[in-house]
Amino acid sequence: MIIERSFASGVGHIASALSIIDMLAVLWGAVRRKDDRFILCKGHAALALYAVLRWKDEITPAQFDSFCADGSAFGQHPEPGIPTVDFATGSLGQGLSVGCGLALGMRARGEAGRVFCLLSDGECDEGQVWEAAAFAGHHRLDRLTALVDANGLQALGRTRDVLDLSPLRDKFGAFRWDATEVDGHDHAALEKALTRPGTDGRPRMVVCRTVQGKGVSFMEDALEWHYRNLSPELKDRALAELAP
Ligand SMILES: [Mg+2]
Repeated sequence: MIIERSFASGVGHIASALSIIDMLAVLWGAVRRKDDRFILCKGHAALALYAVLRWKDEITPAQFDSFCADGSAFGQHPEPGIPTVDFATGSLGQGLSVGCGLALGMRARGEAGRVFCLLSDGECDEGQVWEAAAFAGHHRLDRLTALVDANGLQALGRTRDVLDLSPLRDKFGAFRWDATEVDGHDHAALEKALTRPGTDGRPRMVVCRTVQGKGVSFMEDALEWHYRNLSPELKDRALAELAP
């Protein structure tokens, strides 16, 4: 769905979408409940979110196919008005703070839901992420779960070269999060990590080791595919490689 839609719409961020699609599939397929909220902090990977919403019949085929068309609500970055989207993302670093506010508000109102935030690893360069991390740990926001798409790449380079924040799990642990690390393409491991019991009221962090462009050999871990679009030949190759 991601490859075909991206090719038809002529819009990229395909590799970022493939990086997180397994995480979203597990969230939507096995973890998320009706009262839960979700924030795609790395808004540029919105096509993966739209694909999952289509998969679960939360949007129509026509809505999915309108991706990036004139007048469509389904742009490169998600905006309110789209199912599950409460907050426009795309400006990196802001989503986790909104997640903290949602979690705190839900607790104050005695509501049952949980909050899931999906960040990119490059996004953790933003200082606001760490302000939110400190806030969530201090307030023991145990209904908050963050996932980091740790693919090791960001727009202009490798995360370890731009700003090395490894090991992310330990850094969030220092802010009083219950932090773990899993293979972000292993559905069983993701489900286990996302449903594990909490510890001492701590927010949960799941650092997901991923491969940008997962499943398409010429895209995997290739920096230029952060932005590139598919030619007809490369589209056919990608579909052939992803075929079950
Ligand atoms: Mg990244």
